[in-house]
Amino acid sequence: MLQKNPKTTPSRYANQRMSYDRETANAILDEALFCTISYSVDNQPFAIPTAFVRKGKKLYIHGSVGSHFLRQIESGSPVCISIMLVDDLVVAKSAFNHSVNFRSFTLFSNATRIDDYDAKYHFFKELTEKIVPNSWNYLRPMKESEVNKTMLLEFEIEEASVKIRAGEPVDEKEDEALPIWSGLIPIPSKRLAPIADELSKDIPLPEHLK
Ligand SMILES: Cc1cc2nc3c(=O)[nH]c(=O)nc-3n(C[C@H](O)[C@H](O)[C@H](O)COP(=O)(O)OP(=O)(O)OC[C@H]3O[C@@H](n4cnc5c(N)ncnc54)[C@H](O)[C@@H]3O)c2cc1C
Repeated sequence: MLQKNPKTTPSRYANQRMSYDRETANAILDEALFCTISYSVDNQPFAIPTAFVRKGKKLYIHGSVGSHFLRQIESGSPVCISIMLVDDLVVAKSAFNHSVNFRSFTLFSNATRIDDYDAKYHFFKELTEKIVPNSWNYLRPMKESEVNKTMLLEFEIEEASVKIRAGEPVDEKEDEALPIWSGLIPIPSKRLAPIADELSKDIPLPEHLK
């Protein structure tokens, strides 16, 4: 289970929509490609979107060793990482009752910098294969210099929460008879057919991209 404490317990729907189940969290983390990392420097908040990978009870991000944001958090100052998957717009009979069906995740953690070459190399493979499955062996092999100029940060997934809203709109009892359409507008996130760039016009689409 994830750590439920005052920081990871919301004031609203604390019992209905929240989950601290690790498998539920893992499913969200493995479907989402991107997260937003928030941190604060001298009382100034920053929130930076970035790619990530989960491995067991750890979450990994990477970036240039020169990145302002990675250098700010590599020393282990507190961060909050959030992830959301949006499934439907929930259209009610009143503007007030409009909502969203979503699966979201919030994590409080601290970075540990990973400098081990093999661990970094393995992470780059995992991240690449998460974003474009089965592509690692097809690509030009990663160079040692590319591994060296990229920073890898690891976060423990412990103090975290999941929130899920699913289902139909919830209208006021007195609005239910109104002749106003209500329901769901699905907004699926999906991969469409790949589009070749100029350099690839004559290169066959590899199996893993079909
Ligand atoms: C796509 C999307 C759209 C949303 N739109 C709105 C909106 O327009 N208005 C609105 O009020 N709310 C919206 N929410 C819900 C919002 O994320 C909060 O859950 C909600 O505002 C309740 O806040 P709170 O004050 O109860 O939580 P807080 O008391 O501020 O939160 C305390 C702790 O609860 C946990 N928590 C709270 N919310 C979440 C979450 N979503 N996911 C995971 N853990 C969480 C975190 O650990 C957090 O630190 C939206 C959520 C999503 C994903």
